[in-house]
Amino acid sequence: MNLSTIVEVRRPASFADLRDWHAGCSWLAGGTWLFSEPQVAVDTLIDLDALGWTPLTVTEAGLEIAATCRVAELHAFAGPPEWRAVPLFRHCIDAFLMSFKIWNAATIGGNLCMSLPAGAMISLTAALEGVCTLWPRAGAPRTVPVVDFVTGNHANILQPGELLRSIHLPASALAKRTAMRQVSLTKLGRSAALIVATVGADGSDFLLTVSAATPRPVQLRFPACPSAEALRGALDARLPRDAYFDDVHGSAPYKQHVTRYLAEQIRSELA
Ligand SMILES: Cc1cc2nc3c(=O)[nH]c(=O)nc-3n(C[C@H](O)[C@H](O)[C@H](O)COP(=O)(O)OP(=O)(O)OC[C@H]3O[C@@H](n4cnc5c(N)ncnc54)[C@H](O)[C@@H]3O)c2cc1C
Repeated sequence: MNLSTIVEVRRPASFADLRDWHAGCSWLAGGTWLFSEPQVAVDTLIDLDALGWTPLTVTEAGLEIAATCRVAELHAFAGPPEWRAVPLFRHCIDAFLMSFKIWNAATIGGNLCMSLPAGAMISLTAALEGVCTLWPRAGAPRTVPVVDFVTGNHANILQPGELLRSIHLPASALAKRTAMRQVSLTKLGRSAALIVATVGADGSDFLLTVSAATPRPVQLRFPACPSAEALRGALDARLPRDAYFDDVHGSAPYKQHVTRYLAEQIRSELA
């Protein structure tokens, strides 16, 4: 849709050009959400595309995903063979409810910054122990784990004018075995639960990430693959029924039920 309140679109070529931020400014990434509803408080769009950030950078330490990397670019990524977790990229992306246009325009950073419970790129990067690099308006860059970046439904730790620069996925997490399950109430509906577990090749360091069923991602870590009883006990202790996200995509009791059910499926798959 046309955003009738916009009076200026800036296309800075570097972060240094991003001066005079004011309350009506908004970062523009893929624009798939920004242009989907009125933004009455926004008068200036700052297009991140011209910054020209390399979408994906492989290093010995892991994978650097620029905030401006498109969902379609991440889907096409083929990593080194020792990164056993790479197929999880496509499984999570396929869980993302989107049209052809969103597929090709939406960015990984935009999905994180939207901070919706069904943000499949949040599920993916949290499960793979991602760390965000944030550029504040003033001061040095700061880092924060993805799991702590999102604080609730459509809420995160970004300060006014702060920019998400990139997400780092460590090589140690990319080398882990993974299992994932996703469920929606309707065939093409938003995720009601997206659950991922990862475990080291030697069976150590089992990490369960619950998302979509809860307002923000929740993680449970075990030294090794737990028993069914231990996992269920830990889930219920951490997530009582009222900790689940109740909305049109599923009631809290339903989401609790499918979370328990799917968590046990992926636990037994990895065990
Ligand atoms: C029909 C439809 C279905 C959708 N389905 C889903 C869904 O299933 N799950 C889901 O999570 N979302 C969904 N969305 C919302 C949205 O399209 C996605 O979250 C998408 O990934 C947003 O990415 P974008 O690059 O288009 O962000 P934009 O629309 O460009 O930006 C989104 C917000 O993030 C801010 N932002 C973007 N990049 C940065 C950055 N680097 N640093 C700081 N702030 C930034 C923008 O200022 C804006 O406030 C849907 C939208 C539509 C219209």
